[in-house]
Amino acid sequence: MNSLERYYSYNRYLHQTFGGKTYKVVVASGLTCPTRDGSIAKGGCAFCDVRGSSSYFGKQGRGNEIQDQIRARLPAIRERFGASHFLAYFQSYTNTYSDVEYLRTIYEAALSEDGVSGLCVGTRPDCLPDPVIDLLEELAQKSYVSLELGVQSFENPTLDWLTRGHDRQSSLDALTKLRLRAPHVHVCVHLIFGSPTDSERAAEESAQILNSFQVQGVKLHQLMVLENTELARRWREQPFSVLSLEAYTDRVICFLEHLSPSIYVERLYANATHNDECLAPDWSQNRWETHNRIRDQFESRNCIQGTRLIHTTPVSMSLGPSGCPENTSQLTASR
Ligand code: SF4
Repeated sequence: MNSLERYYSYNRYLHQTFGGKTYKVVVASGLTCPTRDGSIAKGGCAFCDVRGSSSYFGKQGRGNEIQDQIRARLPAIRERFGASHFLAYFQSYTNTYSDVEYLRTIYEAALSEDGVSGLCVGTRPDCLPDPVIDLLEELAQKSYVSLELGVQSFENPTLDWLTRGHDRQSSLDALTKLRLRAPHVHVCVHLIFGSPTDSERAAEESAQILNSFQVQGVKLHQLMVLENTELARRWREQPFSVLSLEAYTDRVICFLEHLSPSIYVERLYANATHNDECLAPDWSQNRWETHNRIRDQFESRNCIQGTRLIHTTPVSMSLGPSGCPENTSQLTASR
């Protein structure tokens, strides 16, 4: 068994979903985040170097400009990667943080472009009001829609340390509502492992929660200390512990072994966009060496996704009288 057969890779999921080579085309929505515009905080989440992401910010995201961005990027991507299907990827910032009319304009503009087979929309759990969820569901009934949900951690001490501005319950509520109100939307949860505040059970419990909600995918990142972030400022003031590659791989293996085999894994670790701006951990700068060492560990330890899954109890949920989800307490009952 090679390492790619040991877990449900994103490539396999895309191939099964679209039947051909599929590529994400990054598009800027022109939106910001509540942790940047002062609604919750200024300066962004502690780890976020939004400069290092591949899109830019500005009020350029109206429909025509979305189409211009796609038309400018798609031919080169088609030629370079030989892709036959494209997903418009609203990647950076909080791409549901606006009124629903604006969101409809930019999402529909992207979907109307030739060659675009669907949307990937990155957002935060606390920026999903019902009208936005309903819009996503409406679009998902006609086209592929994936919501990339930045949960980052299900543990409140870590969410505080990362200055996320939302708590665990906010993520559980968002996942519950998405499952109930938007069953056609594919949900891919983003998680960060390696904050000094993470508990020993963080990886295992995260997998159990994702199993319970029957999400479609997950994207893993190690905690990185990048220039121009609050973490960099703290690091210079007082360095904190970060994970060695071996310790990070232990967490990834624990997570995968507890994760349902039906959930695809889009990424096992992240690479620093600019090596000279990554202060720690140093292995974030060595893309292929890191890749090879993680996969070597998978093979030597015979890691296979879902092998430590004892049972998965899908959460039974309902919306309470206020429209808020009930029964999320069942999430921890499967421990
Ligand atoms: S992590 Fe996401 S929500 Fe936080 S500042 Fe960065 S883009 Fe915004």
